Amino acid sequence: PIDCEPLKDLVRTVPDFPKPGILFYDITTLLKDKAGFAQMIDALAAHYIDKNIDLVLGIEARGFIFGPALAYRLNAGFVPVRKPRKLPAPVARVTYDLEYGSDTLEIHVDAIEPGQNVVIVDDLLATGGTMEATIKLVRQLGGHIAGLGFAVELDFLKGREKFPDLDVYSLLHYN
Ligand code: 5GP
Repeated sequence: PIDCEPLKDLVRTVPDFPKPGILFYDITTLLKDKAGFAQMIDALAAHYIDKNIDLVLGIEARGFIFGPALAYRLNAGFVPVRKPRKLPAPVARVTYDLEYGSDTLEIHVDAIEPGQNVVIVDDLLATGGTMEATIKLVRQLGGHIAGLGFAVELDFLKGREKFPDLDVYSLLHYN
């Protein structure tokens, strides 16, 4: 397997963003690095290449940045999971709780054929709430979830415990 540890040096941490007390893991510094970006996609592709993936689902917005590159490498299609009222055709919708308030995600109802093999990607796994909501959408449409892929996982938030029966793969782990 590819050793991703050196990529950690390319992730920037920004204190007090988007609000005081939050340490934000910024992957734009990894994305702009030629070798870093290639290694990130290579490592994800290596993990999924033999799993017969039909579709890569990316979660708005940062899942849109590298999900399509992964889909291309896997000869898979790409499906966007979007914030409300962005998608033009009929959608399935899920609303989930945040620390303060709630959020909604949508997917086109015809985006997944029943039984299609799907990988869902996002830049970062924190509590897992965003991914949990997306999983509901995929199951509603009858998709089979082959795995959940992330660039960064915040291990101390134990988000992966929400998905005991799924393959959760993250390139970089922080404690
Ligand atoms: P969760 O739902 O797992 O608690 O939060 C993950 C979602 O919030 C992802 O969509 C991710 O993009 C965003 N997010 C939360 N914290 C961070 C962070 O420190 N850095 C980045 N890049 N995204 C974050």
